[in-house]
Amino acid sequence: MTSHQANWLYDGLTEGFPGDRATPCVHLPSGETVSYGALEAAAGRYSASFIASGVRPGDRVAVQVDKSLGALLAYLGAVRAGAVLLPMNTGYARGEVAYLLGDAEPALFVCDPSRVDDLAGVAKDVGAHVLTMDSAGEGDLAADAASRSDDAAPVPRAADDLAAILYTSGTTGRPKGAMLTHDNLYSNTRTLVEAWHFTADDVLIHALPVFHTHGLFVATHCVLLTGSAMHFLPKFDAQTVMDLMPISTTMMGVPTFYTRLLAEDGLAEAAKGMRLFVSGSAPLLAETHQAFEARTGHAILERYGMTETTMITSNPYEGPRRPGTVGRPLEGVEVRITDPDAKAGSIKLCAANTVGMVEVRGPNVFKGYWRMPEKTAEEKRPDGYFITGDLGMMDDDGVLHIVGRGKDLIISGGFNIYPKEVETVIDALEGVEESAVIGVPHPDFGEGVVAVVVPQPGATVTGAAVMDGIKGELARFKQPKHIAIVAELPRNTMGKVQKTVLRDTYSDVLAG
Ligand code: AMP
Repeated sequence: MTSHQANWLYDGLTEGFPGDRATPCVHLPSGETVSYGALEAAAGRYSASFIASGVRPGDRVAVQVDKSLGALLAYLGAVRAGAVLLPMNTGYARGEVAYLLGDAEPALFVCDPSRVDDLAGVAKDVGAHVLTMDSAGEGDLAADAASRSDDAAPVPRAADDLAAILYTSGTTGRPKGAMLTHDNLYSNTRTLVEAWHFTADDVLIHALPVFHTHGLFVATHCVLLTGSAMHFLPKFDAQTVMDLMPISTTMMGVPTFYTRLLAEDGLAEAAKGMRLFVSGSAPLLAETHQAFEARTGHAILERYGMTETTMITSNPYEGPRRPGTVGRPLEGVEVRITDPDAKAGSIKLCAANTVGMVEVRGPNVFKGYWRMPEKTAEEKRPDGYFITGDLGMMDDDGVLHIVGRGKDLIISGGFNIYPKEVETVIDALEGVEESAVIGVPHPDFGEGVVAVVVPQPGATVTGAAVMDGIKGELARFKQPKHIAIVAELPRNTMGKVQKTVLRDTYSDVLAG
């Protein structure tokens, strides 16, 4: 870490920029390429525009915009201006936007021109100035930035100052704003660049959204810090991604990217020259990992992280990448597994191979939830460990296995059931593509197990066949009391199976 970074994150990233600023940084779908020099100058103009709009150091800049070069410039401009970016999912409806704006009280809100009529009132109520940006990155902000000079120095910010607030729904209740500092993001990027052997020769396929930690920070920062390049795509499209593989070296994706790629004929040929495929944000099925390796020769590198902590563990770059595991803690990051049944306030460590709560400590762990000190205190231990809400176990080799979210744990007749265990058994059955196991109200047992099963294309799977297949594999109390066969599971943009949706859909199937 260097000590002369006036703006910790911005200067830290630009130190990685190539000496020759004509080097390509962002390749756009239009065929246009933006050099490092052009990116830096534009970030300077966006920063000047924010400051001219009244944004002061520490102020929040909320953005709800489609992915474009403009969205990236808004992020870099905000950090350079010393502001705190608040990116919002483009799918959020008025009520959700209103809640986030009310909670974060940004100085500025940037939204799509088509939504100004709907949202300007809400923004004004919280005193936010409104600027527009459309899906091409054009609008008031771009127009204003074009008139500004690019030479103002980045606004000084220390390692511990906030760079971004990302809202996360976590378990239940209102979304919480995870406060990420300059050094949370900078230190994690340095670690990932080392761990995944990123160099200036890399070309990343960037098809992730940029309102989430994976696309906005993990993918983008690895490129910027190494002076490499990226194909910046508005969204994932299997054919486009395959067309780019021969002129790229790496891709970061969510598991659905990989299942969709596996449905394409030309995958093996396209992927030949790639160096690395990374997966995260949701569990990658072991079968997907194995099928991808069989087809392409590439073992997908699965890593684990979350909004509050950025990246926590990773499978190794060199050495076996084990399907169904998320690897070891990254350099400088500590992980421990604790007993959920320990007395309140006390900490009892779990032995190897025992499922417990995944806790993490390190420079990557966020500062806390925005304006929610009690919530922060509930989830952060006095010794600095953050309780992730995930359940997992460390095996004898110190490799982490994620078993599910704590809230997904099913308690039936007093017994704990880990959905992942049941899902793994069902997924291994002939003709089964994947499954999701949930707990729903049961008159006798409190909760009962329901399995939602997706057959492989062309296969026929019946509830009776699933029951037959798992009988000898799982204790009675873990066996589903209801099995639904469906064409696909509900997923969010990051590829996570939406178990809350399933719990709602099947809430009364065991009502009796
Ligand atoms: P988010 O804050 O949206 O990034 O979601 C974080 C959550 O996604 C984690 O707490 C995990 O439950 C889940 N997650 C992320 N990566 C993985 C992974 N590789 N395997 C299993 N779950 C994951």
